Amino acid sequence: MDLTRLFELNFLQDDINKMKLDIGRLDEDGEEFEGEISSDILNIPKDAQVRPASPIHYNIHAILIDDELIVTGNLNINILFICSSCSDEFSSEIDVKAFNYVYNIAGNDETDEFLEGDTSKYDELSESIDLTQDIRESILLAFPAHPMCNSECAGLCPQCGINKNKESCECKPPSDGRWDMLDNLKV
Ligand SMILES: [Zn+2]
Ligand SMILES: [Zn+2]
Repeated sequence: MDLTRLFELNFLQDDINKMKLDIGRLDEDGEEFEGEISSDILNIPKDAQVRPASPIHYNIHAILIDDELIVTGNLNINILFICSSCSDEFSSEIDVKAFNYVYNIAGNDETDEFLEGDTSKYDELSESIDLTQDIRESILLAFPAHPMCNSECAGLCPQCGINKNKESCECKPPSDGRWDMLDNLKV
């Protein structure tokens, strides 16, 4: 099976910044898709302290079961983060493993409320499901809250500000005022 060709047929048909799955063409036994899509779909502001350093690589499986489209798979992207301890930029691989999206494609008939899948991303006219938003959210949620270049990052010297991973300094921790006071009392 030529996955590249399927990718072109089923995705990116009408909008380069969207990842849509064409249900009309989907094999009834389900299909696998593997490929890359631009990190532009993440919509990360240019001035953010996070920069995509690769396209998003996806490996997904899609199958239609009754009125539900079930999409499972993995996502992977390289991201440049700013270390929250030493402020250096570093590259890190973000993996989203085994995501599972369910979409209801039943349309607006009365059974809708009993189905659990999300209907809002189904475009009945083009018979396509827009995966863009879910892929974006899955990746953003996998970002670390406090990115660290290394679990042993030594950070910056609080006195002189040098990066202690690269240089050393003679700074001593500031004296604790409370002990100073006790010392003074003894004198
Ligand atoms: Zn660091
Ligand atoms: Zn220092």
